[in-house]
Amino acid sequence: MANSRAPSWEHAVVTGGSGFVGSHLCAALLAGGTDVTCVDDFSTGTRDNVAELLGRPGFRLQEADVREPFAVDRDPDLVLHFASPASPADYLRLPVHTLETGSLGTRNALALAHACGARFVLASTSEVYGDPEEHPQNERYWGHVNPIGPRSVYDEAKRFGESLTTAFAQSRGTDTLIVRLFNTYGPRMRGYDGRAVPTFIRQALAGEPLTVAGDGRQTRSLCYVDDTVRGVLAAAAHGLRGPVNIGNPAEISMLDLARWIVELTGSRSVLRFVERPVDDPAVRCPDITLARDKLQWEPRVPAEQGLRRTIEWFRTRHEDSAPTSRAQRTGTGHGERALPLRE
Ligand code: NAD
Repeated sequence: MANSRAPSWEHAVVTGGSGFVGSHLCAALLAGGTDVTCVDDFSTGTRDNVAELLGRPGFRLQEADVREPFAVDRDPDLVLHFASPASPADYLRLPVHTLETGSLGTRNALALAHACGARFVLASTSEVYGDPEEHPQNERYWGHVNPIGPRSVYDEAKRFGESLTTAFAQSRGTDTLIVRLFNTYGPRMRGYDGRAVPTFIRQALAGEPLTVAGDGRQTRSLCYVDDTVRGVLAAAAHGLRGPVNIGNPAEISMLDLARWIVELTGSRSVLRFVERPVDDPAVRCPDITLARDKLQWEPRVPAEQGLRRTIEWFRTRHEDSAPTSRAQRTGTGHGERALPLRE
């Protein structure tokens, strides 16, 4: 592993920079003095997410689909590859797009970083651990993934992305890092993206029943987005190759989360138990020993504070987060834009 180095990036390319995590990442980089080119196709993100950055010196928004080779105006010294549908509603609606973004998109982002001699950061995911047989999950665990289950389009795309990133590092000498992000939450999530926190908040604020999957005893670990971004940037600056887990080891059951959100919103909503999705993991919790030891990083934002900030954000914006189509609500697989077939 390489040694620590100062985080003095001049120009970062953030693919997927108009998404939930990517937009916070762009803002943090700019705040730290790094120019940012945000590359996004707006398939699951929006211009609104970076509206406050547009017009700021050093920020550029470029519409491009990273499944196709893309160029930027100025060579970057850091490429953060965050483009990918990430919520179940999105990747079920966009299965081929998701696989192509994780494979072709990762290849194109790696090629850009390699050509410029830039450091490359892959946003991987705890989903590479699948429905884990080890708990908590540390980076040495290989995972338990169903390669043909409905979630596989996301899980396997990320697993392939990790493999490709490793191949570029080993065979071409590209400076790479793999971060495995665990569930992250915060402002700019979409109320209909299918993830527990925004779904429960939207339902609680609307006075609708909170839909808890199964008996609600399955656990997740929730990391506030500011902590996730700080972890990613610490790992990028360190020179680690990873994979390194970035997440919050505090576990919470979905039932407790639903009850807590009802309490924090002051809602009168009741809970409704619904069928659990196929291959829904029973437990998910990061072992963050590596990040603690190497990066002196750990989450700082207490869950109550993070949830209050997120609820406040949902309260103060008059939702554009209604699903844009029936397909988006139901995940029926419509809405994919096909890439032209290559020879
Ligand atoms: P998001 O959907 O909000 O953001 C993804 C962004 O990528 C969107 O702006 C979307 O328009 C863009 N995008 C998708 N396909 C693209 C393509 N082919 N070309 C260009 N842009 C494209 O999702 P997010 O939650 O912000 O996740 C961001 C990254 O972090 C993803 O790679 C995801 O796998 C990873 N991650 C997120 C979490 C989490 O809890 N949010 C957890 C683990 C990993």
